[in-house]
Amino acid sequence: MELVFASGNEHKVYEVAKKLGGSIPLKGLHDIGCTTDLPETSDTLEGNARQKARYVWDNYRVSCFADDTGLEVTALNMAPGVYSARYAGDHRNSADNMRLLLDNLQNQSDRSARFRTVICLILEGEEYLFEGMVQGTIRPEPSGTEGFGYDPVFEPSGYAITFAEMSVEEKNIISHRGKAIAALRDFLSSRAQ
Ligand code: IMP
Repeated sequence: MELVFASGNEHKVYEVAKKLGGSIPLKGLHDIGCTTDLPETSDTLEGNARQKARYVWDNYRVSCFADDTGLEVTALNMAPGVYSARYAGDHRNSADNMRLLLDNLQNQSDRSARFRTVICLILEGEEYLFEGMVQGTIRPEPSGTEGFGYDPVFEPSGYAITFAEMSVEEKNIISHRGKAIAALRDFLSSRAQ
């Protein structure tokens, strides 16, 4: 079976391929000659993941999956959510996004938040959704240098360190994305039997 991950980021494709376990050869968008920016105009994570996967299926007729992730903060009515990458503007700057988040949480006692990843798989035209979540709190100040995005302000529940103070391997085991990919992997391996 041929499976495409709807991502143009070769590093991301490589990482996900490793997590899927190598039994299914995984291709990225470049491998199928797709160089366009996939449409991502929905106001939900599910909608965006579905929109990207549909684009690949409709245009290339290959089984594929796409993901979308957001940080959902309870006191901010689950914002920034689907707008996490461009919370502080279209320039998509992580430091600015984190600063705005901390400013908006300044007088809030509830600092609970979660990362959520949704994966939409289209297998021979049939659609399946998978989800991974990690619960935690938003620190008052950034800490740590690993990772990306909101990692320096996110402390996962049960830990006294932020995502940015964890190794990539440690983060992958408990992270939203790691869990969503594990759910996809388990589904694909159950189908292969
Ligand atoms: P994407 O859907 O994976 O591109 O994620 C959208 C945005 O959510 C990113 O640009 C980051 O701002 C944020 N984000 C997603 N995953 C993580 C993570 O693991 N740590 C910190 N921020 C993340």
